[in-house]
Amino acid sequence: MPEDIEVPVLIVGGSLVGMSTALLLAHHGIRPLAIEYHRGTAIHPRAAMITQRTMEIFRSVGVEQIVTKESDEQFVQDGAIMAVETLAGKELAWFIANLNEGVRDVSPSLRLFITQSLLEPLLKARAEELGAELRFSTEMTSFQEDAAGITAQLRHRDTGEAATVRAKYMVAADGAHSRIREKLGIRMLGHGVFSKSITIYFRGDVGPLLRGRNLSVMYVVNPTLSGFFRIEKPFTSGFLAVHWLGDSKNPVTDVSAGLTKERALEMLYAGLGTREVPVTIENIMQWDATADTAERFQHGRVFLVGDAAHVMPPSGGFGGNTGVQDAHNLAWKLAMVLKGEAGLELLATYDPERRPAAGFTVEQAYSRYVTRSAPYLRSDNMQSIENDLNIELGYRYDSTAVILEDGGNPLHANPRETKARPGTRAPHLVVERNGTKLSTLDLFGRNFVVLAGPRGGVWLDAAHSASQELKLTIDAHRVGTDGLIDPGGNFSDAYDITPTGAVLVRPDGFVAWRARDSSGASSESVARVLSAILCRQA
Ligand SMILES: Cc1cc2nc3c(=O)[nH]c(=O)nc-3n(C[C@H](O)[C@H](O)[C@H](O)COP(=O)(O)OP(=O)(O)OC[C@H]3O[C@@H](n4cnc5c(N)ncnc54)[C@H](O)[C@@H]3O)c2cc1C
Repeated sequence: MPEDIEVPVLIVGGSLVGMSTALLLAHHGIRPLAIEYHRGTAIHPRAAMITQRTMEIFRSVGVEQIVTKESDEQFVQDGAIMAVETLAGKELAWFIANLNEGVRDVSPSLRLFITQSLLEPLLKARAEELGAELRFSTEMTSFQEDAAGITAQLRHRDTGEAATVRAKYMVAADGAHSRIREKLGIRMLGHGVFSKSITIYFRGDVGPLLRGRNLSVMYVVNPTLSGFFRIEKPFTSGFLAVHWLGDSKNPVTDVSAGLTKERALEMLYAGLGTREVPVTIENIMQWDATADTAERFQHGRVFLVGDAAHVMPPSGGFGGNTGVQDAHNLAWKLAMVLKGEAGLELLATYDPERRPAAGFTVEQAYSRYVTRSAPYLRSDNMQSIENDLNIELGYRYDSTAVILEDGGNPLHANPRETKARPGTRAPHLVVERNGTKLSTLDLFGRNFVVLAGPRGGVWLDAAHSASQELKLTIDAHRVGTDGLIDPGGNFSDAYDITPTGAVLVRPDGFVAWRARDSSGASSESVARVLSAILCRQA
């Protein structure tokens, strides 16, 4: 008899993004089942650059410290992103001299590098601790959707044992070649495949070639190849990703064609710029460099996240991070709908919020790929390059889950200038409680939060009454009094309200609504706004 399983959410794919979805749902009190075809977490390093936003998300679920500690063991911190002719040879350009230079003020968290092989077990442990179930060696072979849910057929890849899952919702975290997306007939739109790239994982004492430079990512452009290196501590292992071979005017973009270990070794030597360092190849992975976004991120009860929803070249290190942000946007919405705290229509805000943000990121990754690695590609269909910070922290949402001010929101902005405008990430400000420093961001992450100015006590009363009326937990704080000290007196400016104003922040740390002063403060106004955002009228 096949096993029958009933779960609120089935997550298909348990790699970086599926695992993050499981963790974030569990954080919101939902016990999802995540299934993964592979026998365990990542065995290859794969993605490693983690943005401040992803670290903020990890902070909110209690894994920031352990991720930072493990990252320290693995990589030098605050390294540069640069271009060289070869690792041993000439320097061509410095894109970022120090990974965290000039961004420390905008977030309590820092950018860092940690490979998926180290990160995924940390996410897994926390997800399981919070109640998520993860099954490896398990493949979803088919699924059907009806008005009330999803029925999916699973098969254990070693024992052949079958199981049927009944879930209210399904999250497709099944990667760039998503079979779920294919079955739903959702097209990918964008630039298509522009290179059949490879990643060569190697071992060898390349430390001396770094010549004391603190480097995180080294783009390589020379007459033999274009690609990039990433090297782990103690500088005896790393990878070279290769995008194309030969002359940039007539490049060979199918790097994987006729590939042998000997050819890969030649490429490695061409990237290193010397044959004097003995190197051995551990593994070679092939992948398509593309820049495409799914035409829809939702189909009924199915939601696409991560590479299933958008695929981008690695230039910029945005791919996995964008997927974690999808999961973060979706998790609280699914949780509130499943708990009966929000109407079903809240889920329809996932696509209009995430698709434009992800699409913009895909284009920015493409622009970086063209300018850093493939100048032969057409540049007339490419966006101008925006500051990394605007992509990582300045993406904005425009949907019915935000009460927008004057019209709409541009897609992205400098996070130092968004100042708690509805639809943007609530700004980081250092505050103090009981002598301990914390970030305003530490007040968010689970419930809706009313954050009022020091003379905005009326908003706390309004939040309290609205909470009772709506039977919804609302956290409420006054910044600058009631034990939450604002040492620099900067809150009103950072959140662009008067001392009597308030903002309403969503569980994902995005501002849902703002009142600049106390003139409209009442439990009715707070309840009305929340009912609209949570689609309760319908
Ligand atoms: C060389 C390189 C460097 C990169 N560096 C970075 C970086 O520094 N930072 C960054 O953010 N991104 C980076 N990226 C991008 C990043 O690797 C991807 O965006 C990210 O791994 C996508 O994760 P995912 O979980 O969405 O998809 P995947 O990692 O593809 O996972 C999908 C999973 O679903 C499973 N699956 C599929 N179908 C089924 C099924 N039917 N049943 C069960 N399981 C199934 C698969 O086994 C797979 O494990 C890089 C990419 C490359 C190629």
